[in-house]
Amino acid sequence: MLKNDQLDAWDRENFFHPSTHLAEFARGNLPQRIITGGSGCHIEDRDGNRLLDAFAGLYCVNVGYGRPEIAEAIAAQAKELAYYHAYVGHGTEASITLAKMILDRAPDNMSKVYYGLSGSDANETNIKLVWYYNNILGRPEKKKIISRWRGYHGSGLMTGSLTGLGLFHRKFDLPLSQVVHTEAPYYFRRDNLDQTEEQFVAHCVAELEALIAREGADTIAAFIGEPALGTGGLVPPPEGYWTAIQAVLDRHDILLIADEVVTGFGRLGSMFGSDHCGIRPDIITIAKGLTSAYAPLSGSILSDKVWKILEQGTDENGAIGHGWTYSAHPIGAAAGVANLKLLDDLKLVQNAADTGAYFKQALMDAVGDHPNVGEVRGEGLLCAVEFVEDRTDRVYFDPAQTVGAKINAALLNRKIISRAMPEGDILGFAPPFCLSREEADEIAGKLKEAVAEVLG
Ligand code: PLP
Repeated sequence: MLKNDQLDAWDRENFFHPSTHLAEFARGNLPQRIITGGSGCHIEDRDGNRLLDAFAGLYCVNVGYGRPEIAEAIAAQAKELAYYHAYVGHGTEASITLAKMILDRAPDNMSKVYYGLSGSDANETNIKLVWYYNNILGRPEKKKIISRWRGYHGSGLMTGSLTGLGLFHRKFDLPLSQVVHTEAPYYFRRDNLDQTEEQFVAHCVAELEALIAREGADTIAAFIGEPALGTGGLVPPPEGYWTAIQAVLDRHDILLIADEVVTGFGRLGSMFGSDHCGIRPDIITIAKGLTSAYAPLSGSILSDKVWKILEQGTDENGAIGHGWTYSAHPIGAAAGVANLKLLDDLKLVQNAADTGAYFKQALMDAVGDHPNVGEVRGEGLLCAVEFVEDRTDRVYFDPAQTVGAKINAALLNRKIISRAMPEGDILGFAPPFCLSREEADEIAGKLKEAVAEVLG
């Protein structure tokens, strides 16, 4: 391994880090962390620190670090056949087996899997397919996509537009004009504090109806949403939200894309968030948990309804003009097969449900009564603590105080990795599914200390 000072210099000189303050990093004002290993819920850095990763990387290392079963499956595939493409009917045992395993686990109206590399490119695929679908159906005007404020769907041109967070639009000339945003299902942040949860759901539905009326249903192709909001705040949906939204979409013949990049394969304590939340999607996006990030692989799962029209389209127009060189990459597919098998063998989805409930309670016991804690929320192993200046009147902190980032840093000093979510003082927790109760207690205990250090 290179000497540390050499790596430090090369890093600052050559490496464009994503989602990073580039100038501060180049000036040396942002710390570097060079990760060298991982096992279970822990990672190690080159300075010998062992950290409990309570965000599973970017909520993706769901089975935990250092699983030899997946590493060996990747190595075996690389030795046997590192690459062949999937165009014009080609496949490998791994890519074909994985498609079957995905569909065996997906909601029962699902029919086919298209493979990509990332959540972003899978959502780009989804929008192209939705446009193609409406062209084949002779509805060339039905093309706009509804997304939610605070939704996160990637950072490409279309997917960055779908993402409803200002940071991903500013100075990038986004969102594109085909994208319109509607209310986030974020009850804690409702405008009207007197609203009950039921009234708030009715408000979300009314906002959606008004948007559809304004734009015209015959111009709207699809609605995209995460079963539980992710990067926008880690917010489980209010009771009844999805049933009510789905009824509106059905009435206006608008397709529903469930973005399960975070929730797919167990994060909420069920195999799919769609089943967990009572959603019947037309398309599902998967990525992260498909391989637990041991290799890049994503997918678009298409329902029968969509698939039939795509088949019709190719009868009318020839082969579908869509594909990536690395679609169905054998190494990613081999990682996916081993990962899903591990998820079953170790009953990790059940652990996400059981330890998730325990963890949320531990967080509540640790900080729930603190005067600056507005809400402790979660579903499965997707949890958040939201901080406010005044919890009675729900007054937020001035963002300039960076309270969330400070608590995140205080927790990191205690060797726990959480994530300060981008809009608001929200600390996110999404640990690997192998989290033990002792580790859950450790995170909660250290959080209590970190909160006391920053807020008293
Ligand atoms: N969709 C959701 C719900 C996500 O959380 C993410 C990434 O965090 C994406 C899409 C984009 O995935 P990727 O970063 O792999 O492009």
